[in-house]
Amino acid sequence: MALVVQKFGGTSVADPEKILAAARKAIRAQQGGNQVVVVVSAMGHNTDLLIDLANQVNDAPPAREMDMLLSTGEQVSVALMAMAVHSLGHKAVSLTGAQMGIHTDSSFTKARIRTISSDRIRKLLDAGNIVIAAGFQGIDDEGNITTLGRGGSDTTAVALAAALRADACEIHTDVDGVYTTDPRQLPEARHMSQISYDEMLELASLGAGVMHNRSIEFAKKYDVPIHVRSSFSDVRGTLIVSESESPTSAVCGAAMTRSEARITVQGVPDVPGSSLQLFKLLANQKIDVDMIVQNVGEENRADISFTVLNEELKKATAVVKDAVKLLGATGFTTDNEVSKVSVVGLGMAKQTGVAQKMFHAVADAGINIQMITTSEIKISVLVARGQSQAALRAVHQAFVLETTPRDAVEWTELPTRKASPTDVTKLLGDLQAADMEQLRLSDISLSDNQARVTLSDVPDAPGLAAKVFDAVASAGVFVDMIVQSCDGFQGATSISFTIPRSQYEQCMEVVEGLKKQYQIRRVTGCREICKLSVRGIGLRSHTSVAIGMFDALASAGVNVEMINTSELSVNVVVASQHGQNGLASLKKKFAENLN
Ligand code: ASP
Ligand code: MG
Repeated sequence: MALVVQKFGGTSVADPEKILAAARKAIRAQQGGNQVVVVVSAMGHNTDLLIDLANQVNDAPPAREMDMLLSTGEQVSVALMAMAVHSLGHKAVSLTGAQMGIHTDSSFTKARIRTISSDRIRKLLDAGNIVIAAGFQGIDDEGNITTLGRGGSDTTAVALAAALRADACEIHTDVDGVYTTDPRQLPEARHMSQISYDEMLELASLGAGVMHNRSIEFAKKYDVPIHVRSSFSDVRGTLIVSESESPTSAVCGAAMTRSEARITVQGVPDVPGSSLQLFKLLANQKIDVDMIVQNVGEENRADISFTVLNEELKKATAVVKDAVKLLGATGFTTDNEVSKVSVVGLGMAKQTGVAQKMFHAVADAGINIQMITTSEIKISVLVARGQSQAALRAVHQAFVLETTPRDAVEWTELPTRKASPTDVTKLLGDLQAADMEQLRLSDISLSDNQARVTLSDVPDAPGLAAKVFDAVASAGVFVDMIVQSCDGFQGATSISFTIPRSQYEQCMEVVEGLKKQYQIRRVTGCREICKLSVRGIGLRSHTSVAIGMFDALASAGVNVEMINTSELSVNVVVASQHGQNGLASLKKKFAENLN
């Protein structure tokens, strides 16, 4: 008999009628010959209301008590859902996280799942019950109630589907699937039939609010196909699996993170460990940093720019003030009126000219790009907030995202799992033995055939990046990593990129030729650089990876010249002579996490 996990989000259980409608769906699935586990969130905005209440009695409620409080939201909805199933004449049993054996660590309000013991759920299912499981919660070794972080019911659902080896995991929500961008921002956004785990992970972490990103890490790790669909109809939704919707499209979706702020620390002594110190101080204050761009500067000093969420700017500024003194940097600037626009697609890893196309789209809309970072499946640019919507639209149009690709997958049946029997045994062993959400790296590698080119002190104007990469591309040079950042100088910018070493001389010639036309003050380069990469799943929810890399490299005396981060990998560029040394230090640092 097949086993289906159905998750209903807060809006799908917001009132008694909706609860009854969800109960009917579960019953229908059972009557279709399946065993059914239903995972529910708190009704409507109940979690928000509970947080409000907490703040009325305490400005900084203790995290343990917060979890005690928040878990009640889901306890209400599981009980009501079970009653609803009974009233429709079927058997159901509701279970809290503790009752169903979801064991977590003790990080209250953001606990990670360690193990799930599925025996009790199995027994109840075998006895003909629909099992109603409380989302978002678990229990730690001491028996304390924990919660998994906002939106964590998705993670409960996918984790249960993994632990029970479910045939399907349906996420029933108030939208009918995943769109090429948020339809509230662009009405021309298109519903996708399918999206890959990697693409969904990137989009989720870029603020495409459809799913909790940790749930996608689970799905990828344990090979759980997810079907995101509307709880108010039976139409086909979006499948999240290993493969993209179209095997040939470079870009599958675009996203905008509206409220970002940029911080540039100027004149940081360019010695091993300076970025480490800066980002450690920020991490200590639990400030998430993004779009880290470090540019090679003059007189052995570098500028480091990064973005934080606007609401964290104040906290971050305080940290940076101290860091400037500590590091002996010359100063810092901030801008709180910026937004990040990104495109994502597995296909861009295999195609050239994708970044250039994005820069062109933004330039043609007359919008200036303030910062750029690229990774293998994502390109992000920072623009003025007032122009972010226009930039998103321009990019969405440039990649024709509103039109279904000709080779888009059309599916009618849910896929079956592809994991081989040995994989399954291994996975099941893991489920009992190891932390399900533990950081797992697939490989640490060195590619030592690259060169770096840097243009500094370039007057910043719309179209600059587009023109530079046009010229480089027409010379047939293959560009890999690109970063652009703000210089300390007013209105000036720097662009660094990596290319194959064999094209270095040729590329330098092209760039020298651009100097006059674009008033580029300085062109520098390094013929012998290499890239060190750490790959795995969900590296951004494990922020310790980037810091750990900086840490290992700094202790080995290796200076980091460029960095990029994504969900799939963290890459750093270092001088070639440090490659082997750097690689060894990373392998040692992450020995425990390597598969
Ligand atoms: N009720 C929790 C929240 O609002 C968990 C969830 O909805 O997924 O964040
Ligand atoms: Mg939710």
